Amino acid sequence: MSLPAPPTLARAVGNRVPFAEKLFEEIRSESVDIAGVTRPAWSARDQAAADILGDAAKALGLEVAFDAAGNLWCTLPGADRGAPRVLTGSHLDSVPTGGHFDGLAGAVAGLVALAAFRDLGVEPPCDLTAMGIRGEESVWYGIAYVGSRLAVGSLPRDDLDRLRRGDTGRTLAEHMAEVGIDVDALRASSQPTITQENTRAFLELHIEQGPVLVGEGLPVGIPTTIRGNVRFPYARCTGSYGHSGATPRAYREDALLAVVELVRDLDQYWIDQEAAGVPDTVFTVGKLYTDPKHHAMTKFPGRCDFTLNFGGTSEAFLDACRERTLARAAEIGAARRVSFDLGECVGSMPTHLDPGLRKLLADTADALEIPHREFATVGHDASIFARAGIPAAMVLVRNADGSHNPDEKMELADFAAGVQVLAAAMSSLAV
Ligand SMILES: [Zn+2]
Repeated sequence: MSLPAPPTLARAVGNRVPFAEKLFEEIRSESVDIAGVTRPAWSARDQAAADILGDAAKALGLEVAFDAAGNLWCTLPGADRGAPRVLTGSHLDSVPTGGHFDGLAGAVAGLVALAAFRDLGVEPPCDLTAMGIRGEESVWYGIAYVGSRLAVGSLPRDDLDRLRRGDTGRTLAEHMAEVGIDVDALRASSQPTITQENTRAFLELHIEQGPVLVGEGLPVGIPTTIRGNVRFPYARCTGSYGHSGATPRAYREDALLAVVELVRDLDQYWIDQEAAGVPDTVFTVGKLYTDPKHHAMTKFPGRCDFTLNFGGTSEAFLDACRERTLARAAEIGAARRVSFDLGECVGSMPTHLDPGLRKLLADTADALEIPHREFATVGHDASIFARAGIPAAMVLVRNADGSHNPDEKMELADFAAGVQVLAAAMSSLAV
């Protein structure tokens, strides 16, 4: 049978909403915590999520397999098994006491799309695969995107024994072995399972983790770029403590007011850059604190610790933020008789999602009369596939109350709209 028209496929997706709801509830029951859900990567809990999805896929008559890293693959076989496949999926793991739909929505979405193709009796020209990806949050090991990086071959195999769980010291390899992964085989398999040659495109559906779609009353967003960032996680200013009432300005070495001046300067820089038309920029001071062992209302602080976190889609903006921070810290430190030690500067470059796929998703949403808009997003597995040279794009679904918390909310009607766009785009790509 030829591929279905988008409205036909959209109806089939709509009919599968109860199937999605049942999967969400079954998986939730395996991962509830005191608040929200906790599904650490390569634990019994994300394994349970993978097994529930895998069993549902088998019941649909799909091919089900786990790759060497334990990522779940559910495939609707195509007429030409050798043709590059169309891949979708997202992560199965969560942060501690996190939201249920972060990642899981995209893993379930892929299966719902394949169920709709199955219901219509479609044999696509190429394989269509829905993945449940392991270790995107990977909170135990302090490094993100482990499952997708193993799949595209961009994680050194030494990391399996080097990465240790922060609280217990047990290695990633030990946890993988516990959920049935053949770690020796994984160590020996240096070849990527997902390549430019065998994969036509990777599409990831994910809940929006910010307020834009709720704010603008839109069910679906199409990200342009995954923001890069420049971060100073361990910045410190050192001066000296002194009596608040007894010390005139000329004698003060006040660390806190120096940090406040730096932060105010960087905030103004952000405002000015935005006004000058630099798009998609963010700036956050997530921590700023004095030492509770020494601070008091009647002392000016001799030490202030803080973090700086710039994000953006422009490499030039991120470079300029780093340079300005270093230069202004030196100037303010000299003027205020304090010293800044900004510590290690870390970050990642922005990842631009595939323009052709973005246009396909936008045109598909238009054809289905699903309101949408484009904007930049944060890090997701899609960035790992894009960096491996595989055309990648995303569909974001409206979600109230943020993410990485138990309050996140996604309406199933919005989920269905997102999967309708996803499934129709997969159908267009299957040639
Ligand atoms: Zn996520």
